[in-house]
Parts: sequence; C-alpha cells; structure tokens
Amino acid sequence: MRANKFTDALQRCAELIDGRSVAVLSGAGMSTASGIPDYRGEDGALRRRAPIQYREFVGEESARRRYWARSSVGWAWLKKRDPNDAHRAVARLEEAGRVSAVVTQNVDGLHQAAGSREVIDLHGRLSRVVCMDCAAIEMRDELQQRMLASNPGWDRLVAEMAPDGDAELAEETIAGFRVPACRRCGGILKPDVIFFGENVPASRVSRALELVLGADVLLVLGSSLTVFSGYRFVLAAAEREVPVAIVNRGATRGDKLATVTVNDRVESFLPRLVRTIDR
Ligand SMILES: [Zn+2]
Repeated sequence: MRANKFTDALQRCAELIDGRSVAVLSGAGMSTASGIPDYRGEDGALRRRAPIQYREFVGEESARRRYWARSSVGWAWLKKRDPNDAHRAVARLEEAGRVSAVVTQNVDGLHQAAGSREVIDLHGRLSRVVCMDCAAIEMRDELQQRMLASNPGWDRLVAEMAPDGDAELAEETIAGFRVPACRRCGGILKPDVIFFGENVPASRVSRALELVLGADVLLVLGSSLTVFSGYRFVLAAAEREVPVAIVNRGATRGDKLATVTVNDRVESFLPRLVRTIDR
C-alpha cells in the first residue's frame, strides 16, 4: 500500500514537471544529508539552539563576540561539507534544461558547489562578510585568517573543535575572543546572511519572484515553509495558478496549495525523479 502510494507520488511529480520549465525553491532539508543540521524538526518546531536574532547581533557587542568566536569553529567545519545527491540531481535537471532557476533559503553554497548556475541565495552566503558601516565586502576565508591571527592559540582550538562544528565554547573562552572589525573603516562586520528578524532586500525578493512566476512549475525541496520569506513564493505561485510540487520530509505550511506533495527526503526522492523523467 505504501509502495503504491509512493510510486504514485513519483509518477505524478514526474508528469507535472516533464516538458515544463521548473523553478526550485530549496530549504534546510536540502542540506541535511550533507551533515548540516536543520533548525527545525519534522514538526517544524525548533529543536537545536535558537539561531541568533538580528537585533541581538546589532545591539550587543557580547552577541557579536559569541557569534564570531563560534563561527571561527563552525566555518572551518562548514567548509568541509560536500553537496549531496539532491544538490546533484537539481544541477543535473538544470543542465538538461528542465530547471530554470534555484531560489535557496540555504546559506551554505552547496547548490553552486554541485554545479547549479542560476541560483538566488535568498538569505545570502556565509562565504562573504559585509561591513554594516561602509558596506565593504570581505571573503569569509580572509576574515578567518585575520581572526586566527589576532587570537593567538585560537587556530589550535579551531582545529580541535571543528570536527562536529557545533561544539560549545566555554564563556571564558568566548570572553577572550577579539572581534574582527572592517579593514577599511573599522566598522562592524556581519556575515552576508539574513538573520532571523531581518528582512530580505526587496530587490532580491522581486528578482526571485520574477524567476518563480516565469516558470511553469514551482518545485519546493526540503522546506517546511514555516518562514514567510519562503512561503511567499508558494502563495504567489498559487495566486498566478503556477502549479506547486512539494518534496519534504514531514508536512509543510504550503501543502494545501500544492498540486503534488511528496513526503520523502529529497536526497532519496530526487535521483529517482531524475531517472523517471530521463527514461
Ligand atoms: Zn567598513
């Protein structure tokens, strides 16, 4: 019974996207098979440490110190993550002319690493850092070198703790961390990502909307659509009668608006979808 239901979902999804131009909207579920933890479980509830809030980062030097101290360990770990079968399937679909664009809520750059070209990083990229005062951009790798240089002994700590990337740093360790400043103006540095409580720039949203509404189908991958910044694309697509297919482990906020919903992990479903269409 379950097998039939699954085959049916695969078939319906394949029929929906075959011969049409597809815009992809991807979320955290896309990267869980690459070892990057999702902040939300299958029920959409926060299950790990709550992510930093924009207001906190901007308003409190201690919050920035904690962020950059933890990030110096987390970045060394994140750099080693590889794209998974789901990223590769999406890149393959783009190469075959089936996927026209990817709008991702992820900040890990793994779509691009897998070979996707037309990607909008809705929430930015961790690989870049921006000055909040003069808007200068610095690559995260360069900042990492600067941070390790101005925090003697920290490189050893990073090397030791990086294996799981989510290691807890003791408060006294964090207290001694020297927070990096902008090279150009000495201003406050922020990763070039959208924090919780921060808005995605309007120009980026409208470009992404254009791509989604210009496609024949919207394929949502690995997102519970809990956050409005992603859900708005499903709303817009449904309003314009662009059919929506959702592949996600667990229910999503967009299920009622979808033509097809598939309750499965993207890394196992997408390769099968590609094979079905290629057949
Ligand atoms: Zn600056």
